[in-house]
Amino acid sequence: MAQPGVLHATPPSLTAADAERLAHELFGVDGPAEPMVSERDQNFRIGGDWVLKVSNPAEDPAVVEMEVAATQHVATVDPGLPVPLPRPALNGSPIAVARVTGAEHRVRLLPLVAGRNPDPAELTSGQLREIGEVTGRLSHALRGFFHPAAGRPILWDQKHLPDLAEHVPLIGDERRRAQVERILERFMERVLPRLPALRAQVIHNDVTLDNLLVGEDGHVSGVIDFGDMAHTALLLDVPATLQSLVRRREDIFAAAAHFLPGYTSIVPLEPDEADLLGDLLAGRMAQTILISVWRTRAYPQNAYITGWEEPAWALLDQLEAAGLDEAGRRLAAMALSAGPGVASGRADDDERLLARRERVLGPALAPLSYRRPLHLVRGSGAWMHDAQGRAYLDAYNNVPVVGHAHPRVAAAIARQAATLNTNTRYLHGAVVELAERLAATMPDGLDTVMFVNSGSEANDLAWRLARAVTGAEGALVTEWAYHGVTAAIDDLSPSEWRAGRQPRTVETFPAPDTFRGAAPAVGDGVAAAVERLAARGVRPALLMVDSLFTSDGIFAAPPGTMEAAIAEARGAGALYVADEVQAGHGRTGEGLWSFTAWDAVPDIVTLGKPMGNGHPIAAVVTRHEIAERLAAETEFFSTFGGNPVACAAALAVLDVIADERLVENASATGAGLRQALTELQPRHRSILDVRGRGLMVGVELPDAEVAARVRDQMRERGVLIGTTRREGNVLKIRPPLCITTEEGEILVERLDEVLGSAAS
Ligand code: PMP
Repeated sequence: MAQPGVLHATPPSLTAADAERLAHELFGVDGPAEPMVSERDQNFRIGGDWVLKVSNPAEDPAVVEMEVAATQHVATVDPGLPVPLPRPALNGSPIAVARVTGAEHRVRLLPLVAGRNPDPAELTSGQLREIGEVTGRLSHALRGFFHPAAGRPILWDQKHLPDLAEHVPLIGDERRRAQVERILERFMERVLPRLPALRAQVIHNDVTLDNLLVGEDGHVSGVIDFGDMAHTALLLDVPATLQSLVRRREDIFAAAAHFLPGYTSIVPLEPDEADLLGDLLAGRMAQTILISVWRTRAYPQNAYITGWEEPAWALLDQLEAAGLDEAGRRLAAMALSAGPGVASGRADDDERLLARRERVLGPALAPLSYRRPLHLVRGSGAWMHDAQGRAYLDAYNNVPVVGHAHPRVAAAIARQAATLNTNTRYLHGAVVELAERLAATMPDGLDTVMFVNSGSEANDLAWRLARAVTGAEGALVTEWAYHGVTAAIDDLSPSEWRAGRQPRTVETFPAPDTFRGAAPAVGDGVAAAVERLAARGVRPALLMVDSLFTSDGIFAAPPGTMEAAIAEARGAGALYVADEVQAGHGRTGEGLWSFTAWDAVPDIVTLGKPMGNGHPIAAVVTRHEIAERLAAETEFFSTFGGNPVACAAALAVLDVIADERLVENASATGAGLRQALTELQPRHRSILDVRGRGLMVGVELPDAEVAARVRDQMRERGVLIGTTRREGNVLKIRPPLCITTEEGEILVERLDEVLGSAAS
């Protein structure tokens, strides 16, 4: 073991009479001595006012000096913080030296703080928040403090967690042993390499309920025991305290929901720190367990040590039950979103916000979802929370593809934004790396990537490319397609055409409507559309398809149908553009790109919405010679397109999709969801059809009125879904790809209830 010292040493064993004598001789204080618990020192209560603290003889004198200096520093910076300052000895020094039975001890006399150590179960939400604030204030007060002894290795510093691995064999229970091994392995992989990049300073490192006192008024009356201070990651105070707030079966997330906002109101976390919170909490538990098993073996009579283990196991179980990734996400979201005012929303605030919004954003903007609009303030995983703190399962939004506020994506954006943001006229690694990585995921030939800022712009650029290549001016799209918002792409979006409007250069063909049996006719539909264009003297430049047919009603094209349609269009000279803005980035569960299900390689692929998990970035992927044709006509430049911050977001999204196996999840969870919805059919005759691919699921209901009612009632039950199809009668279920089977079950249960209720 690397650590020298004090954890190995037996605590001092002075008698009460020794303590009384020392208090008298060194400090001039008299009173009966009563022993108090301590991990490695020996403490005595002297009368009603004082604590005599006799340090372990193995303790480095410099460490004792550091403790005193730190409390003095804290008292100077934040005089309101209740830290006990030592009473000077008769010789004027705050630290006296005494020889007892041959050993030399450092001795201090500290004021006895009024109050008691609170029990975790009794803490109110206000107290949890206050403990967060006190912990934050202490970190903040120590910001400018330094002492050379803070650099000593201390096992309670998580950067030394690997040193504790040698005690794993001391855990008797095989299952428990494996559990700690899992945590250690994850720690080595995910945490240890990132710790050196976190903010570091001297921290208290042990603001636990054992070292916090609460007075009769319920407020924190003392923070004691600076003996575990270390110069280490600032963040490590958080898991240390958080761990102690929860015992046995209490919910760690419920405690964190109050504690973290308290802490971050004083010390806002950086995204990287927030991202590691869950793992550091698990690490702290492993650390506690390993120190406990080892020290229990050495000092079986020390109840202070043996009491730690059980709660640590219970907490570890809780974290593993939630899933460490998910637990980390939830804690990170709490830590990052807890800025001032976040949870302050009230209904009348929403009313005022709505009125201001209507005044300033104008009537052309799409209306708010829901008659009673949702005012959402934060999100995590597949969940969003409104201003009143209510949680909603998000089964509607495909943009946050890896989950809301994903800490890795947020951290990547923050890191790059804090470094440099510029444009593609300068050489930068991120844009090149992203382009290379995207091209590597595409079929051979699709080797050129151009970046823009939205799906609409990507389709707009695809449209320019297709016209440059073909010299034609026409487009073929499905009957109720949506491809974007620019003037050109609005023409290619029949779902946006007001009645009667049809651009001269655009023709439509039916989507493969498997429910109504129209699928085989898609090829014929394209042939007919080509003829109608020809009758107007127009040749098609492209056929653009969203392969999930999201606005047409969500269909999985039967094998061969779209191949025939694409062949018809190509026969008429058109390029095939796969619009992956909806369906890409893993949604179909069949790989990253949905077009690969069909035996036809696109000429152009457009990417958008999920690409930056909400950060604007989009792209066109095509063949080099197609880009050359545009280059012959013009030069393409987009100020924001491919900027380093957006690229950092998009790279992080690709990483998370791979690391969290989200394509696999889309496949398995999507199939499970469709299966469960299909099983509802016998009970609910209004479910006419369940269909889709991966995590794009359509549920066909009799009419738009039923569908809108179901959608609205689902919201009342805390689940967000949408509706689609020209007739508006299909439920659109399109959650972030991190949605779990259990969360999918919540959706199905709520839908079962809503369809079973009289109103629908
Ligand atoms: N294509 C498809 C298939 C879409 O669904 C959308 C947006 N819903 C777009 C393009 C346009 O994307 P954006 O709104 O980001 O411009």
